[in-house]
Amino acid sequence: PGPDNGRLFYRSTDWLAEDFMEANDVQHEANWLRAEVGRHVFHPMADPKDTVANPPPIVMRGDGVHVTDLDGRRMLDCQGGLWCVNAGYGREEIIEAISRQARELPYYTMFPGSANAPAVQLAAKLCELTASEGMGRVLYGSGGSDATETAFKIARQYWKLAGQPERLKYLSLRGGYHGLHFGGMSACGGDAWRRNYEPLVPGFINVESPNLYRPPFEGVSPDQLGEMCARLLEREILFQGPDTIAALIAEPVQGAGGVNVPPANYWPRLREICDRYGILLIADEVITGLGRSGELFGVRNWGVTPDIMCLAKGITSGYIPLGATLISERMAAAWEAPGPTSVVMHGYTYSGHPVACAAGLAAIDITLREKLHENARVVGDYFLARLKTLMDRHEVIGDVRGKGLMIAVELVKNRATREAFAPTDSYPGRVSDACLDKGVMLRTIVNKFIISPPLIFTKSHADEVVAVLDQALATTGR
Ligand code: PMP
Repeated sequence: PGPDNGRLFYRSTDWLAEDFMEANDVQHEANWLRAEVGRHVFHPMADPKDTVANPPPIVMRGDGVHVTDLDGRRMLDCQGGLWCVNAGYGREEIIEAISRQARELPYYTMFPGSANAPAVQLAAKLCELTASEGMGRVLYGSGGSDATETAFKIARQYWKLAGQPERLKYLSLRGGYHGLHFGGMSACGGDAWRRNYEPLVPGFINVESPNLYRPPFEGVSPDQLGEMCARLLEREILFQGPDTIAALIAEPVQGAGGVNVPPANYWPRLREICDRYGILLIADEVITGLGRSGELFGVRNWGVTPDIMCLAKGITSGYIPLGATLISERMAAAWEAPGPTSVVMHGYTYSGHPVACAAGLAAIDITLREKLHENARVVGDYFLARLKTLMDRHEVIGDVRGKGLMIAVELVKNRATREAFAPTDSYPGRVSDACLDKGVMLRTIVNKFIISPPLIFTKSHADEVVAVLDQALATTGR
C-alpha cells in the first residue's frame, strides 16, 4: 500500500489542468505519482534499485522545444525525447493527423486479405524521398529495433532468393547500437548492451571502428584511422569467407555509442568493401534518418548509397511508434521470382499501422516544409562551436563532437590521458542535475552528455544551453 492505501485512482494527465480539482487533490495525485515512479515499472536501461532511490523527473507536458515536469520545472529539452521529437512538441498537424485517422480507421491489418491507405501512401513517400539512394520497398514495424530485425531477416531471405543461401552472417562495428531485439543486440558493439542477455545469436561479428576520441590505434590521422579500420574489416571478411556474409550494418554517425562521427573516408570505404565482396550494406538511420545529422539521411553526409535503410524515431517525430526498413529496388527484384521462398514471412500486427503512418506523413511534411535538416546543420554547427569554447574554461571536458543536432560532451578526469570517470562516480550526474535546476534537460550516459534537441532549436536556445552548462560545471564540486 502506498500513500493512497494502494488505491490506483490516477486517471489521466488532464488533472493538472483541471481548475475544478481541489489543490490538495492535485497535490495528493502528484505525491502518488512521485512515490509510484519506480514501484511498478522496470525502466529501460536502468537498475530498478536506482530508479527507486533516485526517481527521475516525471515529464508532464511539452511545448515547442520545452518540457515541463511534475514539479512545474520548464526545461529546454536537449534530449528531443530520445533523439526523436524532431518537429518539437505541440505540432497541431501531427496531432490532427493522428486524431483524424483514429476517428476514421484506428487500425486495419496489412496481412494478406487487406490493406490500409496511410501505409501505402507513406511507403510511396519514403521511396520518393530516398529515390537517389535507389530505395524501392518498405517493410514496417513499430520502432528501431523492429527496423533492424527486419533488415537482418530480409537480407538473409534476399540471399536465399539470389541463390547464395550460405550468406548468413552479419558484420557490425564496435560502438554501434542497433536496438535490443536479439538480432540488434547481437549486432551491438558495446558489452553493456549484450552482457545480461547472452548468449547472442550466432553469426554476428563485431569489428573495430574508427572512434576518433578513443581510437584503437594512437598517433594516426583521422583518414589513416579510417583506412586502418577498413583494412581490418576486409581482413575479417576474408577470414570468415566473403560468401558466408549477408550484410554489414552501421550507423552513419554512431549515436548511443557516444556520438562518434567517422572520418570522411570511412563510409565510402565501407561501400567499396561491401561491393568488392557482394555484401549488403545496411545503414541504420534510426537516429540520423529524417534530418538529425544535418542531411535528410545520414548517408548523404558521406555520399554513400546503402542497400537497406532502417528508419524510426524522427519518422513520426516520436508522436507515435513507427519503424520502417527500406530496401533497394535492385534487391526487391529478387522477390520477382515465383515460389514459396519469395513470401515475406515476416511482419507484425502493427506493421503499417494506419494511425502511425498518418502521423508519419504529417511529420515528414513538416520536416520538408520547414527544412528541419538544414536547420539541424546550421544550428548544430553553431552549437558545436559554442560548446567547444567551454573547453577553454573547463579542464573536465575531454571532447566535444557531433554532426548536426547530435552532439556529445565527454567529461574526463584527466584531459591529457583521457582517463574516464568511473561509472559509479556521481559527478556527471550532479552536473546534469544542476542543469535541470536551471532549466536544461540533458541526457547523461555515464561520462557523456548527449545533446539531441528538437530540430527546430535556434541559436539562442543553443546559447542558453551553453550558458547553463558553463555555470553548472563552474559550480558543481568534483
Ligand atoms: N538503431 C539505432 C541507431 C538506435 O539509435 C536505436 C534507438 N536509440 C535503435 C536502433 C532501436 O530503436 P528502438 O529503441 O526504437 O527500438
